Amino acid sequence: MTRVGIGYDLHRLVTGRPLVLGGVRIPFERGLAGHSDADVLTHAVIDAVLGAAALGNIGQHFPDTEPRYENADSITLLRETLDLVKAAGFAVVNVDANVVAERPRLSPHLDRIRARLSDTIGLGIEGISVKAKTNEGVGPEGRGEAMSAQAVVLLEKK
Ligand code: MG
Repeated sequence: MTRVGIGYDLHRLVTGRPLVLGGVRIPFERGLAGHSDADVLTHAVIDAVLGAAALGNIGQHFPDTEPRYENADSITLLRETLDLVKAAGFAVVNVDANVVAERPRLSPHLDRIRARLSDTIGLGIEGISVKAKTNEGVGPEGRGEAMSAQAVVLLEKK
C-alpha cells in the first residue's frame, strides 16, 4: 500500500535570525521568523509525512506554545515525525519539494540540503528532490517578505 501526503508552509523573513532550510544554514542577511528554527522546507516535509499517514499536522505534534520547541532544530522534529510513521508501519519512498524565495539564490545549496534530508530520512539522495524558484517579484515571497515551501511525500506500508 502506498500513501501520498502534501505539505505547505510559509514563514516571514526578518533581520537578526539565521536562515535554515532543510537543516542547512544558508548565508543571508535575514532569516525566517518562528518559534522553532523556522525551517520552512523541513516543516513542509514534516506535514507531508504526517499527511501521508493521516496523522494530523505539525502544529498538533509540535505546538508553538511549548517552550521546549523554542528555537528547536526542525531536523530533530522531522526525526520524531519519522519515528511516528515508522511505528505505524510506513517507510518513505520519495520526497519532492519546492522552496519559493526571491533571494538568496538557493541553487548552490540544494545538493547540501538534499544530502541533509537524505541522511535524516535514511533514504538515498536519489529519492530526495528539492527545487528552488523565485516568485517573479510578486506576492509576499516575491517582495522578500516571506519564504514558502511545498512538499509531497510518498509512503509505503511494508
Ligand atoms: Mg512552520
